[in-house]
Amino acid sequence: MSMHPNGGLTRRGLAALLGLGLVEVITPGAASADGRRIPREGGPPLLVHTRRDWQALPARRPATVFRTPPNRIVVHHTATPNSEDYSLAHAYRLSRRIQRFHMRARGWDDTGQQLTISRGGHIMEGRNRSLAAIRNGRHVLGAQALNHNGHTIGIENEGDYSDSPVPGTLWDSLVETCAWLCAEYDLDPFRAIVGHRDLVATDCPGDVLYGRLTELREDVADRLDAQEEQEEQEEQPSEDVPPSGEAPSPGEVPPSDGGAPSGQVTAPGEVPPIEPVSPPLHDPVHVSPDPGVPASPAPNAPRLDG
Ligand SMILES: [Zn+2]
Repeated sequence: MSMHPNGGLTRRGLAALLGLGLVEVITPGAASADGRRIPREGGPPLLVHTRRDWQALPARRPATVFRTPPNRIVVHHTATPNSEDYSLAHAYRLSRRIQRFHMRARGWDDTGQQLTISRGGHIMEGRNRSLAAIRNGRHVLGAQALNHNGHTIGIENEGDYSDSPVPGTLWDSLVETCAWLCAEYDLDPFRAIVGHRDLVATDCPGDVLYGRLTELREDVADRLDAQEEQEEQEEQPSEDVPPSGEAPSPGEVPPSDGGAPSGQVTAPGEVPPIEPVSPPLHDPVHVSPDPGVPASPAPNAPRLDG
């Protein structure tokens, strides 16, 4: 085997290994893809890391997709240790850990929640088909709020917020994520955002995070207002632009959905076929079992007490 003086393989040495099928070339960037940049009206794209990024196991079967959007966004905590590792690698490990727990210990088809946010603020796709569904105003049936899965989308926030503060990095991403969901689904944050304990007998998402839900709704509403304002400014007719000659010519304006072709989440043709509604019978999503959760396997009743 020919080795490079610095210890690496020479091109010939690599070619020999490739010929023997002993190694495969990993294109730089491909294996460490940095997620999808979700275009948003009136704001910068939102970076969401896909299942491929965190190397999800294949789901046992494709998730059920409902035509109707969810009407509630459920805030959870994972009840896992409050890690100080804010890296993307740690976030990916978290997603893999939750998925393994849900599939192996709980016996579910896939990870239960639609979205996961690490303490470092990294936003990740959870259940399969979630990103495509959100972009198309549809709802992927998850397993995160017993008896309410048919009308709720769940966000798992890493950590235990029974009495610990929520890191700013996580908070900021939670606000952005909720604003994105409210915009895509046309939801009022003051009605839509709820804590897991509002639906099910559980301590989730911890007293501290639960105690901040009013603030979360307000922050999300502010974010949506700012986006709407920005959107209106972008829609101003060109006559309003001062004729200074500094306005970009139409050819210089980037496409509104921005970025590389790979930045597009899904084409309409990629929407999976709608499957018949089946009653979701899942428990909550947490890595730690949630005591006191009713085990009633009643079919999903998509209603809230309003
Ligand atoms: Zn929960």
